[in-house]
Amino acid sequence: MPEPLGNLVRTHTCGALRADDVGADVVLLGWVHRVRDLGGVTFIDIRDRGGVSQVVVRENEALMLVAKKLRSEFVIGVSGVVQRRSEDTVNAKLATGEVEVLAREIRILNEAKTPPFQIAEDSPVSEDIRLKYRYLDLRRTRLQQNIGLRHRVTMAVRRYFDANGFWEIETPILAKSTPEGARDFLVPSRVHPGEFYALPQSPQIFKQILMISGMDRYFQIVRCFRDEDQRADRQLEFTQIDVEMSFARPESVYGIIEPLMQQVMKEIRREVHLPMRRMAYADAIGKYGSDKPDLRFGLEITDLSEVFRDSEFRVFKQIVADGGVVRGFAVPGGNKYTRSQIDVLVDQAKQMGFTGLIWVRPSEPPLSSVKALTEGTLRAALDRARATADDLLLMAAGPADATSKLLGQLRLAIAKKENLLDPDKFEFLWVTEFPLLEYHEEDGRWYSMHHPFTSPLDEDVDKLESDPGTVRAKAYDLVLNGSEIGGGSVRIHDAALQARMFKRLGIGDEEARDRFGFFLEALEYGTPPHGGIALGVDRIVAILAGESSIREVIAFPKTANALDLMAGAPSAVDAKQLRELHLKIQN
Ligand code: ASP
Repeated sequence: MPEPLGNLVRTHTCGALRADDVGADVVLLGWVHRVRDLGGVTFIDIRDRGGVSQVVVRENEALMLVAKKLRSEFVIGVSGVVQRRSEDTVNAKLATGEVEVLAREIRILNEAKTPPFQIAEDSPVSEDIRLKYRYLDLRRTRLQQNIGLRHRVTMAVRRYFDANGFWEIETPILAKSTPEGARDFLVPSRVHPGEFYALPQSPQIFKQILMISGMDRYFQIVRCFRDEDQRADRQLEFTQIDVEMSFARPESVYGIIEPLMQQVMKEIRREVHLPMRRMAYADAIGKYGSDKPDLRFGLEITDLSEVFRDSEFRVFKQIVADGGVVRGFAVPGGNKYTRSQIDVLVDQAKQMGFTGLIWVRPSEPPLSSVKALTEGTLRAALDRARATADDLLLMAAGPADATSKLLGQLRLAIAKKENLLDPDKFEFLWVTEFPLLEYHEEDGRWYSMHHPFTSPLDEDVDKLESDPGTVRAKAYDLVLNGSEIGGGSVRIHDAALQARMFKRLGIGDEEARDRFGFFLEALEYGTPPHGGIALGVDRIVAILAGESSIREVIAFPKTANALDLMAGAPSAVDAKQLRELHLKIQN
């Protein structure tokens, strides 16, 4: 029978007691972590969010009887006196390991069923079981630490923005469709039959309207909803640090976000040196084959086209003559790979989509998978790629972007294989000057690469109609260790340019009016130049916590299959609810 809390008042958390507390009368409240009954004495580890303390029961018949009833995860209150542990039981791994509490009273506040997995041990448990019993999973050290880190990060963010004159302003969750390019979640209106709210994919339009409203500097730690097909490690709802500033240039946004990230990194005791690196999108693709390059390691891609323009190797020569490229990178120490290891690599490359990956060993004379290549050409390629005698040069040819992107994938795969992804390094990078638009062959249309409110570079505006593919945007992404952790832009603040942009995107006047009419109208009432960014909280905390999945830093995540296994959502609703919402389910 559970006992009431009664007069028990917690004096310390279970992680607080130190040698200085010896002699103190204390009360601890928490869960039974472990019990060890050694006959004459019983040791009970008691746990709460703060940590674990050892409680000892000895020479007390009545208490021994209580201790015998204890099982893992019972909730107890213990009062007693702190004493130094005997030399042989000091536990240097535990913050409270020098002391223990000699129990005077143990009150069983609640019993617990045997949990489906051990809380006290970090033994592997299937993710489905962990998610079904998330309340138990959350009791384990790993998640307690992750959720604690997440809290500290969001608090640091709030303190920082407050100190810098940003106001936290809430925006609606029941809103109108927003233009981030994903599918909306819709909420049927009971009051307005046949009409729907959309959950915000982001507060984009609202935060821009807040700038029109003169709010000057806004931030919000906000949930966003995107009904996307579940790619690995996505969530239907995720949290952003959303920011907007009036009178902003890209530099002003970097100037606010860089010290913010510096503050955030202090939560894991990391120094970040500013300014952060910047790289134009075109360079990122060219040199790293990615718009989110991982800069913890080199393996930089070099253009080798000039070496092959007049070479004896007809295939490459032709590709270069047709406007394509030859590119490659040197794998440091790659000359040690055996022939069969190289064959495996070439096979792997094929699976990635390479039509041919060519290798060169810098031996005397150099050796290559292509016999037709002369020593002179091979040496020129090795030199240009700055390959040393220990390296292995890998090359491919084809259209510029596609070739770099394939090499970029291979670069990452090799870095993983060679253990170059140092978990202790944190490399930030701004990727800038993204293309404004991208063309989709499927429907022969231009789409915004970011969203339709992104401003083109001033010098590129004139090409919006004549050469849209070359127009660069005042858009930027913040990348950390090869993950995009944020993205934003300076916005269009001129109503006429915004209308031109919608037209470019094939959004007709009527559709624009219908979807964004209120916003287009607002733009006409004195809109200041403005810009902003959104940073992904889940991803940032996951990287800081050293977790590869964002599910490990979200208290109640959904499965990769979009299910809440604990609460059992989504689920059917009763007929009355459907009727009220004017909905009929069609089977
Ligand atoms: N609303 C954008 C997003 O969620 C970010 C921004 O442009 O500020 O990706």
